[in-house]
Amino acid sequence: MANCVVAGINWGDEGKGRMVDLLSEDYDVAVRFQGGGNAGHTVINRYGTFALHLLPSGIFRPGVVNILGNGVAVDPENLWSEMQGVMKQGVSLSPENLKISDRASLLLPWHRQLDVLEEQRLADKKYGSTKQGIAPFYSDKYQKKTILAGELFYPDTLKVHLADLLEWKNLILTQVYGAQPYTMEMLEAWIEESCEKIKPFICDTGAFLRHAQAEGKNILFEAQLGSLRDLDYGIYPYTTSSNTTAAYAPVGSGLPSAKITDVIGVVKAYSTCVGEGPFVCEMFGNAADTLREAGGEYGAKTGRPRRVGPLDIVATRYGVEVQAATEIALTKLDVLSCMEKIPVCTHYLLCGEKTDRFPFPAALKDAQPVIEYRDGWKCDISGVRRFEDLPREAQAYVAYIEEQIGCPITYISVGPERDSIIIRKSYSL
Ligand code: GDP
Repeated sequence: MANCVVAGINWGDEGKGRMVDLLSEDYDVAVRFQGGGNAGHTVINRYGTFALHLLPSGIFRPGVVNILGNGVAVDPENLWSEMQGVMKQGVSLSPENLKISDRASLLLPWHRQLDVLEEQRLADKKYGSTKQGIAPFYSDKYQKKTILAGELFYPDTLKVHLADLLEWKNLILTQVYGAQPYTMEMLEAWIEESCEKIKPFICDTGAFLRHAQAEGKNILFEAQLGSLRDLDYGIYPYTTSSNTTAAYAPVGSGLPSAKITDVIGVVKAYSTCVGEGPFVCEMFGNAADTLREAGGEYGAKTGRPRRVGPLDIVATRYGVEVQAATEIALTKLDVLSCMEKIPVCTHYLLCGEKTDRFPFPAALKDAQPVIEYRDGWKCDISGVRRFEDLPREAQAYVAYIEEQIGCPITYISVGPERDSIIIRKSYSL
Protein backbone atom coordinates (compact mmCIF):
# COMPACT_ATOMS: atom_id res chain seq x y z
CA MET A 1 0.00 0.00 0.00
CA ALA A 2 1.35 3.45 -0.93
CA ASN A 3 -0.08 6.88 -0.31
CA CYS A 4 1.97 9.17 -2.50
CA VAL A 5 1.47 12.90 -3.01
CA VAL A 6 2.69 14.68 -6.13
CA ALA A 7 3.08 18.33 -5.18
CA GLY A 8 4.62 21.48 -6.63
CA ILE A 9 7.69 22.85 -4.89
CA ASN A 10 7.67 26.34 -6.37
CA TRP A 11 5.10 28.68 -7.96
CA GLY A 12 3.17 25.97 -9.83
CA ASP A 13 3.46 24.89 -13.49
CA GLU A 14 6.32 22.58 -12.56
CA GLY A 15 4.88 19.67 -14.52
CA LYS A 16 2.83 17.85 -11.87
CA GLY A 17 0.23 16.71 -14.41
CA ARG A 18 2.77 14.91 -16.58
CA MET A 19 4.19 13.21 -13.47
CA VAL A 20 0.76 12.04 -12.29
CA ASP A 21 -0.02 10.80 -15.81
CA LEU A 22 3.21 8.78 -15.72
CA LEU A 23 3.05 7.52 -12.14
CA SER A 24 -0.64 6.63 -12.09
CA GLU A 25 0.23 3.43 -13.97
CA ASP A 26 1.26 1.99 -10.59
CA TYR A 27 -1.73 3.30 -8.62
CA ASP A 28 -5.33 2.27 -8.18
CA VAL A 29 -6.74 5.67 -7.30
CA ALA A 30 -5.78 9.26 -8.22
CA VAL A 31 -7.25 12.08 -6.13
CA ARG A 32 -7.22 15.84 -6.60
CA PHE A 33 -7.50 17.34 -3.12
CA GLN A 34 -7.51 21.13 -3.45
CA GLY A 35 -7.86 24.04 -5.85
CA GLY A 36 -10.12 24.45 -8.82
CA GLY A 37 -10.02 25.17 -12.51
CA ASN A 38 -7.65 28.10 -12.12
CA ALA A 39 -4.53 26.34 -13.38
CA GLY A 40 -3.85 23.74 -16.00
CA HIS A 41 -2.00 20.47 -15.82
CA THR A 42 -0.61 19.71 -19.27
CA VAL A 43 -0.46 16.06 -20.22
CA ILE A 44 0.82 14.65 -23.50
CA ASN A 45 0.24 10.95 -24.10
CA ARG A 46 -1.12 8.58 -26.72
CA TYR A 47 -4.56 10.20 -26.57
CA GLY A 48 -3.16 13.63 -27.49
CA THR A 49 -2.37 16.88 -25.69
CA PHE A 50 -4.52 17.95 -22.78
CA ALA A 51 -4.68 20.92 -20.41
CA LEU A 52 -6.55 19.43 -17.47
CA HIS A 53 -8.02 21.98 -15.11
CA LEU A 54 -10.16 19.91 -12.76
CA LEU A 55 -9.91 16.29 -13.82
CA PRO A 56 -7.17 14.31 -12.06
CA SER A 57 -4.28 13.48 -14.39
CA GLY A 58 -4.76 9.75 -13.74
CA ILE A 59 -7.84 9.87 -15.97
CA PHE A 60 -6.01 8.34 -18.95
CA ARG A 61 -5.11 5.09 -17.19
CA PRO A 62 -7.61 2.28 -17.61
CA GLY A 63 -8.47 0.83 -14.21
CA VAL A 64 -7.50 3.92 -12.23
CA VAL A 65 -10.35 5.48 -10.25
CA ASN A 66 -10.10 9.28 -10.32
CA ILE A 67 -11.56 11.35 -7.53
CA LEU A 68 -12.30 15.02 -7.01
CA GLY A 69 -12.05 15.33 -3.25
CA ASN A 70 -13.99 17.52 -0.85
CA GLY A 71 -11.19 20.12 -0.84
CA VAL A 72 -11.62 20.88 -4.55
CA ALA A 73 -13.56 23.86 -5.91
CA VAL A 74 -15.93 21.98 -8.21
CA ASP A 75 -17.13 24.25 -10.99
CA PRO A 76 -19.92 22.22 -12.66
CA GLU A 77 -19.94 24.28 -15.84
CA ASN A 78 -16.20 24.07 -16.50
CA LEU A 79 -15.94 20.50 -15.28
CA TRP A 80 -18.65 19.33 -17.65
CA SER A 81 -17.07 21.09 -20.62
CA GLU A 82 -13.66 19.63 -19.71
CA MET A 83 -15.20 16.15 -19.44
CA GLN A 84 -16.78 16.54 -22.87
CA GLY A 85 -13.48 17.68 -24.37
CA VAL A 86 -11.57 14.74 -22.93
CA MET A 87 -14.23 12.25 -24.06
CA LYS A 88 -14.09 13.73 -27.59
CA GLN A 89 -10.38 12.86 -27.63
CA GLY A 90 -11.17 9.22 -26.98
CA VAL A 91 -10.90 8.94 -23.19
CA SER A 92 -13.76 7.07 -21.55
CA LEU A 93 -15.33 8.65 -18.50
CA SER A 94 -17.95 6.96 -16.38
CA PRO A 95 -19.00 6.91 -12.73
CA GLU A 96 -16.66 3.90 -12.50
CA ASN A 97 -13.46 5.86 -13.24
CA LEU A 98 -14.51 9.37 -12.18
CA LYS A 99 -16.06 10.16 -8.83
CA ILE A 100 -16.87 13.58 -7.38
CA SER A 101 -17.10 13.94 -3.62
CA ASP A 102 -20.61 14.66 -2.34
CA ARG A 103 -18.87 16.86 0.24
CA ALA A 104 -17.12 19.04 -2.33
CA SER A 105 -18.53 22.56 -2.47
CA LEU A 106 -19.83 23.80 -5.81
CA LEU A 107 -18.43 26.94 -7.36
CA LEU A 108 -21.53 29.03 -7.95
CA PRO A 109 -22.16 31.21 -11.04
CA TRP A 110 -21.40 34.43 -9.15
CA HIS A 111 -17.96 33.37 -7.96
CA ARG A 112 -16.28 33.99 -11.31
CA GLN A 113 -18.07 37.33 -11.64
CA LEU A 114 -17.02 38.41 -8.15
CA ASP A 115 -13.41 37.51 -8.94
CA VAL A 116 -13.50 39.82 -11.99
CA LEU A 117 -15.25 42.62 -10.08
CA GLU A 118 -12.77 42.51 -7.22
CA GLU A 119 -9.72 42.52 -9.51
CA GLN A 120 -11.25 45.52 -11.31
CA ARG A 121 -11.79 47.29 -8.00
CA LEU A 122 -8.18 46.60 -6.98
CA ALA A 123 -6.91 47.99 -10.32
CA ASP A 124 -3.11 48.30 -10.13
CA LYS A 125 -3.10 46.52 -6.76
CA LYS A 126 -4.70 43.40 -8.22
CA TYR A 127 -3.51 39.91 -7.19
CA GLY A 128 -3.26 38.62 -10.73
CA SER A 129 -6.17 36.21 -10.35
CA THR A 130 -7.02 33.85 -13.20
CA LYS A 131 -10.61 35.03 -12.63
CA GLN A 132 -11.97 31.53 -12.21
CA GLY A 133 -13.74 32.50 -9.00
CA ILE A 134 -11.40 30.62 -6.69
CA ALA A 135 -10.83 33.29 -4.00
CA PRO A 136 -14.56 34.20 -3.72
CA PHE A 137 -15.35 30.46 -3.70
CA TYR A 138 -13.03 29.57 -0.81
CA SER A 139 -14.05 32.69 1.16
CA ASP A 140 -17.66 31.60 0.84
CA LYS A 141 -16.82 27.99 1.70
CA TYR A 142 -15.23 29.12 4.98
CA GLN A 143 -18.24 31.34 5.62
CA LYS A 144 -20.39 28.25 5.01
CA LYS A 145 -22.08 29.96 2.10
CA THR A 146 -21.67 27.47 -0.74
CA ILE A 147 -23.61 24.34 -1.48
CA LEU A 148 -22.26 20.81 -1.29
CA ALA A 149 -22.36 18.68 -4.43
CA GLY A 150 -24.42 16.07 -2.57
CA GLU A 151 -27.23 18.60 -2.04
CA LEU A 152 -28.18 18.03 -5.69
CA PHE A 153 -29.79 14.81 -4.41
CA TYR A 154 -32.03 16.85 -2.07
CA PRO A 155 -33.80 19.28 -4.47
CA ASP A 156 -36.20 20.74 -1.90
CA THR A 157 -33.47 21.55 0.62
CA LEU A 158 -31.26 22.80 -2.20
CA LYS A 159 -33.90 25.25 -3.40
CA VAL A 160 -34.27 26.83 0.04
CA HIS A 161 -30.52 26.90 0.55
CA LEU A 162 -29.91 28.55 -2.83
CA ALA A 163 -32.63 31.15 -2.18
CA ASP A 164 -30.89 32.12 1.09
CA LEU A 165 -27.50 32.39 -0.61
CA LEU A 166 -29.02 34.36 -3.46
CA GLU A 167 -30.50 36.95 -1.14
CA TRP A 168 -27.17 37.42 0.64
CA LYS A 169 -24.99 37.43 -2.45
CA ASN A 170 -27.20 39.90 -4.30
CA LEU A 171 -26.65 42.37 -1.46
CA ILE A 172 -22.91 42.16 -2.09
CA LEU A 173 -23.18 42.23 -5.87
CA THR A 174 -25.50 45.22 -6.01
CA GLN A 175 -24.45 47.26 -2.97
CA VAL A 176 -20.69 46.69 -2.93
CA TYR A 177 -19.97 46.35 -6.63
CA GLY A 178 -23.03 47.98 -8.29
CA ALA A 179 -23.52 44.83 -10.39
CA GLN A 180 -26.72 43.18 -11.59
CA PRO A 181 -28.40 40.76 -9.18
CA TYR A 182 -28.83 37.05 -9.94
CA THR A 183 -32.28 35.48 -10.08
CA MET A 184 -33.59 32.08 -9.02
CA GLU A 185 -34.30 31.35 -12.69
CA MET A 186 -30.63 31.84 -13.49
CA LEU A 187 -29.68 29.37 -10.76
CA GLU A 188 -32.27 26.87 -11.94
CA ALA A 189 -30.84 27.08 -15.47
CA TRP A 190 -27.34 26.50 -14.03
CA ILE A 191 -28.57 23.40 -12.19
CA GLU A 192 -30.26 22.07 -15.29
CA GLU A 193 -27.48 22.81 -17.77
CA SER A 194 -24.40 22.00 -15.72
CA CYS A 195 -25.07 20.41 -12.32
CA GLU A 196 -27.40 17.72 -13.66
CA LYS A 197 -24.68 16.65 -16.10
CA ILE A 198 -22.12 15.92 -13.41
CA LYS A 199 -24.64 14.54 -10.90
CA PRO A 200 -24.20 10.88 -11.96
CA PHE A 201 -20.54 11.15 -10.91
CA ILE A 202 -21.25 12.46 -7.40
CA CYS A 203 -21.03 9.95 -4.56
CA ASP A 204 -19.62 9.30 -1.10
CA THR A 205 -15.97 9.26 -2.14
CA GLY A 206 -14.86 9.16 1.50
CA ALA A 207 -16.45 5.74 1.86
CA PHE A 208 -14.85 4.64 -1.41
CA LEU A 209 -11.40 5.77 -0.25
CA ARG A 210 -11.75 4.13 3.16
CA HIS A 211 -12.64 0.89 1.43
CA ALA A 212 -9.71 1.28 -0.98
CA GLN A 213 -7.40 1.89 1.98
CA ALA A 214 -8.70 -1.18 3.81
CA GLU A 215 -8.00 -3.25 0.70
CA GLY A 216 -4.41 -1.96 0.59
CA LYS A 217 -4.83 -0.05 -2.66
CA ASN A 218 -2.20 2.42 -3.86
CA ILE A 219 -3.44 5.99 -3.77
CA LEU A 220 -1.87 8.92 -5.60
CA PHE A 221 -2.77 12.42 -4.43
CA GLU A 222 -2.43 15.24 -6.96
CA ALA A 223 -1.85 18.81 -5.81
CA GLN A 224 -2.38 21.98 -7.77
CA LEU A 225 0.07 24.94 -7.89
CA GLY A 226 3.08 24.85 -5.54
CA SER A 227 4.47 25.53 -2.06
CA LEU A 228 4.92 29.25 -2.68
CA ARG A 229 1.22 29.56 -3.54
CA ASP A 230 0.01 27.76 -0.42
CA LEU A 231 -2.46 29.91 1.49
CA ASP A 232 -0.63 29.47 4.82
CA TYR A 233 2.98 28.89 3.78
CA GLY A 234 3.24 30.76 0.48
CA ILE A 235 3.91 34.36 -0.49
CA TYR A 236 0.74 35.75 1.08
CA PRO A 237 -1.35 37.45 -0.28
CA TYR A 238 -0.01 36.34 -3.69
CA THR A 239 -1.07 32.81 -2.89
CA THR A 240 -3.99 30.76 -3.96
CA SER A 241 -6.89 30.35 -1.54
CA SER A 242 -6.28 26.72 -0.58
CA ASN A 243 -3.48 24.57 0.81
CA THR A 244 -1.24 23.23 -1.91
CA THR A 245 0.88 21.29 0.56
CA ALA A 246 1.06 17.52 0.80
CA ALA A 247 -0.01 17.71 4.45
CA TYR A 248 -3.46 18.80 3.31
CA ALA A 249 -3.91 15.79 1.03
CA PRO A 250 -5.60 13.51 3.60
CA VAL A 251 -8.10 16.22 4.62
CA GLY A 252 -8.89 17.54 1.15
CA SER A 253 -9.16 14.12 -0.42
CA GLY A 254 -11.71 12.65 1.98
CA LEU A 255 -9.34 10.25 3.68
CA PRO A 256 -8.24 12.06 6.85
CA SER A 257 -6.78 8.85 8.25
CA ALA A 258 -4.32 8.46 5.35
CA LYS A 259 -0.66 8.25 6.32
CA ILE A 260 1.35 9.76 3.50
CA THR A 261 4.21 7.41 2.59
CA ASP A 262 5.95 9.43 -0.17
CA VAL A 263 5.91 13.01 -1.34
CA ILE A 264 7.26 13.56 -4.83
CA GLY A 265 8.05 17.26 -5.07
CA VAL A 266 8.08 18.56 -8.62
CA VAL A 267 10.75 21.17 -9.38
CA LYS A 268 11.28 22.83 -12.72
CA ALA A 269 14.94 23.11 -13.79
CA TYR A 270 14.48 26.91 -13.77
CA SER A 271 11.86 29.20 -12.22
CA THR A 272 8.57 30.51 -13.57
CA CYS A 273 5.84 32.49 -11.93
CA VAL A 274 2.43 33.55 -13.24
CA GLY A 275 0.71 36.67 -12.03
CA GLU A 276 1.67 39.31 -9.49
CA GLY A 277 3.83 39.29 -6.38
CA PRO A 278 7.53 39.21 -5.52
CA PHE A 279 9.67 36.98 -7.71
CA VAL A 280 13.19 37.60 -6.47
CA CYS A 281 15.10 35.77 -9.19
CA GLU A 282 13.14 37.24 -12.12
CA MET A 283 15.08 37.67 -15.38
CA PHE A 284 14.29 40.35 -17.94
CA GLY A 285 15.26 41.23 -21.49
CA ASN A 286 16.62 38.92 -24.16
CA ALA A 287 17.81 36.22 -21.80
CA ALA A 288 14.30 36.00 -20.30
CA ASP A 289 12.66 35.94 -23.73
CA THR A 290 14.95 33.16 -24.91
CA LEU A 291 14.19 31.03 -21.85
CA ARG A 292 10.44 31.73 -22.06
CA GLU A 293 10.36 30.71 -25.72
CA ALA A 294 12.52 27.62 -25.19
CA GLY A 295 10.26 26.46 -22.35
CA GLY A 296 6.97 27.50 -23.98
CA GLU A 297 6.22 29.42 -20.80
CA TYR A 298 2.69 30.64 -21.43
CA GLY A 299 -0.16 29.85 -18.99
CA ALA A 300 -2.23 26.76 -19.85
CA LYS A 301 -5.42 28.46 -18.64
CA THR A 302 -4.88 32.09 -19.58
CA GLY A 303 -2.15 32.08 -22.27
CA ARG A 304 -0.36 34.75 -20.17
CA PRO A 305 3.43 34.87 -20.62
CA ARG A 306 5.00 33.44 -17.47
CA ARG A 307 7.68 35.41 -15.65
CA VAL A 308 10.93 33.43 -15.81
CA GLY A 309 14.17 33.21 -13.88
CA PRO A 310 16.97 30.84 -12.92
CA LEU A 311 16.37 28.04 -10.46
CA ASP A 312 15.92 29.68 -7.05
CA ILE A 313 17.69 27.47 -4.51
CA VAL A 314 16.46 29.55 -1.55
CA ALA A 315 12.81 29.26 -2.54
CA THR A 316 13.19 25.63 -3.66
CA ARG A 317 14.79 24.52 -0.39
CA TYR A 318 11.91 26.19 1.47
CA GLY A 319 9.39 24.53 -0.86
CA VAL A 320 10.96 21.11 -0.21
CA GLU A 321 10.69 21.68 3.55
CA VAL A 322 7.08 22.84 3.35
CA GLN A 323 6.08 19.81 1.29
CA ALA A 324 8.22 17.44 3.37
CA ALA A 325 9.29 16.04 0.01
CA THR A 326 10.91 12.61 0.15
CA GLU A 327 12.07 12.75 -3.47
CA ILE A 328 12.15 15.16 -6.38
CA ALA A 329 11.04 15.05 -9.99
CA LEU A 330 13.14 17.61 -11.86
CA THR A 331 11.33 18.68 -15.02
CA LYS A 332 12.22 20.49 -18.24
CA LEU A 333 15.96 19.90 -18.02
CA ASP A 334 15.99 19.84 -21.83
CA VAL A 335 14.94 23.51 -21.92
CA LEU A 336 18.27 24.56 -20.40
CA SER A 337 20.10 23.14 -23.42
CA CYS A 338 19.66 26.63 -24.93
CA MET A 339 22.07 28.20 -22.40
CA GLU A 340 25.82 28.54 -22.59
CA LYS A 341 26.09 29.15 -18.83
CA ILE A 342 23.24 28.29 -16.49
CA PRO A 343 22.40 30.89 -13.85
CA VAL A 344 21.29 29.72 -10.39
CA CYS A 345 20.05 31.91 -7.55
CA THR A 346 22.00 30.61 -4.55
CA HIS A 347 21.18 33.21 -1.87
CA TYR A 348 19.23 36.38 -1.30
CA LEU A 349 20.74 39.69 -0.25
CA LEU A 350 18.57 41.24 2.42
CA CYS A 351 19.54 44.51 4.18
CA GLY A 352 23.09 43.99 2.93
CA GLU A 353 23.28 40.46 4.37
CA LYS A 354 23.55 37.25 2.37
CA THR A 355 20.96 34.71 3.46
CA ASP A 356 19.93 31.23 2.37
CA ARG A 357 16.67 31.36 4.36
CA PHE A 358 13.41 32.15 2.62
CA PRO A 359 12.16 35.38 4.22
CA PHE A 360 8.78 36.49 5.51
CA PRO A 361 6.54 37.54 2.58
CA ALA A 362 6.65 41.27 3.36
CA ALA A 363 10.47 41.21 3.29
CA LEU A 364 10.66 39.61 -0.14
CA LYS A 365 10.23 42.82 -2.12
CA ASP A 366 13.61 44.06 -0.79
CA ALA A 367 15.48 40.83 -1.46
CA GLN A 368 18.06 40.75 -4.27
CA PRO A 369 19.17 37.49 -5.91
CA VAL A 370 22.76 36.27 -5.65
CA ILE A 371 23.49 34.54 -8.95
CA GLU A 372 26.12 31.93 -9.74
CA TYR A 373 26.70 30.26 -13.08
CA ARG A 374 26.98 26.53 -13.76
CA ASP A 375 28.37 25.02 -16.94
CA GLY A 376 25.82 24.45 -19.69
CA TRP A 377 25.85 21.50 -22.11
CA LYS A 378 24.46 23.09 -25.27
CA CYS A 379 23.21 19.91 -26.94
CA ASP A 380 19.89 18.16 -27.38
CA ILE A 381 19.19 15.85 -24.44
CA SER A 382 15.55 15.09 -25.23
CA GLY A 383 16.35 11.54 -26.39
CA VAL A 384 18.31 10.59 -23.25
CA ARG A 385 16.70 7.97 -21.01
CA ARG A 386 19.54 7.02 -18.64
CA PHE A 387 21.19 9.40 -16.20
CA GLU A 388 24.67 8.28 -17.14
CA ASP A 389 23.97 9.18 -20.78
CA LEU A 390 23.37 12.85 -19.93
CA PRO A 391 26.24 15.22 -20.73
CA ARG A 392 28.65 15.55 -17.80
CA GLU A 393 27.55 19.18 -17.20
CA ALA A 394 23.87 18.18 -17.00
CA GLN A 395 24.70 15.42 -14.49
CA ALA A 396 26.68 17.97 -12.49
CA TYR A 397 23.74 20.43 -12.56
CA VAL A 398 21.41 17.74 -11.17
CA ALA A 399 23.92 16.70 -8.50
CA TYR A 400 24.41 20.35 -7.50
CA ILE A 401 20.65 20.90 -7.03
CA GLU A 402 20.34 17.71 -4.98
CA GLU A 403 23.13 18.75 -2.72
CA GLN A 404 21.70 22.23 -2.24
CA ILE A 405 18.13 21.15 -1.50
CA GLY A 406 19.00 17.97 0.40
CA CYS A 407 16.57 15.69 -1.43
CA PRO A 408 17.22 12.95 -4.01
CA ILE A 409 16.18 13.64 -7.60
CA THR A 410 14.63 10.38 -8.71
CA TYR A 411 12.96 11.54 -11.93
CA ILE A 412 14.35 13.89 -14.59
CA SER A 413 12.15 14.87 -17.50
CA VAL A 414 13.68 15.87 -20.81
CA GLY A 415 10.55 16.52 -22.89
CA PRO A 416 6.81 16.96 -22.34
CA GLU A 417 5.77 13.50 -23.57
CA ARG A 418 4.96 10.71 -21.13
CA ASP A 419 8.08 8.70 -21.90
CA SER A 420 10.56 11.61 -22.05
CA ILE A 421 11.80 10.70 -18.61
CA ILE A 422 14.90 9.44 -16.84
CA ILE A 423 14.02 7.29 -13.82
CA ARG A 424 16.51 6.80 -10.98
CA LYS A 425 14.05 4.99 -8.75
CA SER A 426 16.43 3.11 -6.52
CA TYR A 427 18.52 6.21 -6.07
CA SER A 428 18.98 7.95 -2.71
CA LEU A 429 21.31 10.69 -1.59
P1 GDP B 1 1.52 21.54 -13.86
O1 GDP B 1 0.40 22.50 -13.65
O2 GDP B 1 2.45 21.48 -12.70
O3 GDP B 1 1.04 20.20 -14.31
O4 GDP B 1 2.41 22.14 -15.05
P2 GDP B 1 1.90 22.79 -16.42
O5 GDP B 1 1.25 21.76 -17.23
O6 GDP B 1 1.16 24.06 -16.16
O7 GDP B 1 3.28 23.26 -17.06
C1 GDP B 1 4.26 22.39 -17.44
C2 GDP B 1 4.53 22.62 -18.93
O8 GDP B 1 5.80 22.07 -19.26
C3 GDP B 1 3.55 21.93 -19.84
O9 GDP B 1 3.40 22.68 -21.01
C4 GDP B 1 4.24 20.59 -20.14
O10 GDP B 1 3.84 20.01 -21.37
C5 GDP B 1 5.66 21.03 -20.21
N1 GDP B 1 6.63 20.03 -19.80
C6 GDP B 1 6.55 19.19 -18.74
N2 GDP B 1 7.69 18.49 -18.61
C7 GDP B 1 8.51 18.90 -19.62
C8 GDP B 1 9.83 18.58 -20.00
O11 GDP B 1 10.52 17.75 -19.40
N3 GDP B 1 10.35 19.24 -21.08
C9 GDP B 1 9.64 20.16 -21.78
N4 GDP B 1 10.23 20.76 -22.81
N5 GDP B 1 8.39 20.49 -21.45
C10 GDP B 1 7.83 19.88 -20.37
